[in-house]
Amino acid sequence: MSERVLVIEDPALAAYDFGPSHPLAPVRVELTMALARALGVLDAVTVEPAPVASDAQIELVHDRDYVEAVRRAGTAPLCADLARQLGTPDNPVFEGMHEASARVVGASVRCAEAVLSGEVEHAVNVYGGLHHAMRGHAWGFCVYNDPAVAIARMLELGERRIAYVDVDVHHGDGVEAAFRDDDRVLTISLHESGRYLFPGTGFPDPDHPLSVNVPLEMGTGDAAWHDAFESVVPGELAAFRPEVLVSQHGCDSHMLDPLAHLALTVDGQGAAAVRLHDLAHELCGGRWVALGGGGYERAQVVPRAWTHLLAVAAGRPVDPSTPTPEEWRALVTRLTGELPPTRMGDLVAPSSPGVT
Ligand SMILES: [Zn+2]
Ligand SMILES: [Zn+2]
Repeated sequence: MSERVLVIEDPALAAYDFGPSHPLAPVRVELTMALARALGVLDAVTVEPAPVASDAQIELVHDRDYVEAVRRAGTAPLCADLARQLGTPDNPVFEGMHEASARVVGASVRCAEAVLSGEVEHAVNVYGGLHHAMRGHAWGFCVYNDPAVAIARMLELGERRIAYVDVDVHHGDGVEAAFRDDDRVLTISLHESGRYLFPGTGFPDPDHPLSVNVPLEMGTGDAAWHDAFESVVPGELAAFRPEVLVSQHGCDSHMLDPLAHLALTVDGQGAAAVRLHDLAHELCGGRWVALGGGGYERAQVVPRAWTHLLAVAAGRPVDPSTPTPEEWRALVTRLTGELPPTRMGDLVAPSSPGVT
């Protein structure tokens, strides 16, 4: 069976850049797409650039005042707007901030529309997943909330039940807030407990049964993470009977991530992509929009985690024992100065000592 799959790839999305000392570095995604391409993952998918979302689309989720504030803050001379969290250390202001952020949204909206129209079964935007942004302010490296806008666009197009599953190490607070009082949207977030980590929220709340939260202890590894996933996600999804699945694949749950304290491997993260793909087929007729998210270990983790996601969506999963391509390793060293991984998984024996 061959499925139609859309993948967004657009160098213009690298303009979403808070500067050289900020952890959300565009090189993470550049190295992801380069790795996926070098392994042939993109050979049989439709690759498209990202359109820029209209103000009307962004305003499905955000206040008009806020959109105008983003546009103003990112136009020379740049100015902070601290009431809206623009110009903080987390969310520095940069030139063209509105346009760059609107392009991230446009990419996710395009994915949503392509899946809904039946053009493709699955659509992936690893540049997206900016799940913290709130209606009226930036938050946690996120200016506009592309997952929320994509979901709102699907509601506008007539979808009646949409499920959102967020496996980023941080609570998917912005998406949850956008739909907390909307019984057409189920949100599920698995994350490191807010007792230890930004944004400090994401605890179970019996008053909001469609905002499901699974806080995890520091040090949670693959087995415990997947136990938690299996004990909650398939049952909640089956009970809700979604027509489409949107998932956010932040890979900052990895043991090497510098900003958080869970202990997954790339193998465990790849297995999560496999499960969400399976659930989309079991419950939603294969209708699946998959987005990126956080993930700050740019050489060892992000490119492999999201290449596995792309490969699962493309129907050609990559075996963890597969060596990373030589030319890609050279690119990692050139762009980051860091040591590239030699295999696609963490749990396989490394290649001979001293040989890369
Ligand atoms: Zn995160
Ligand atoms: Zn599939």
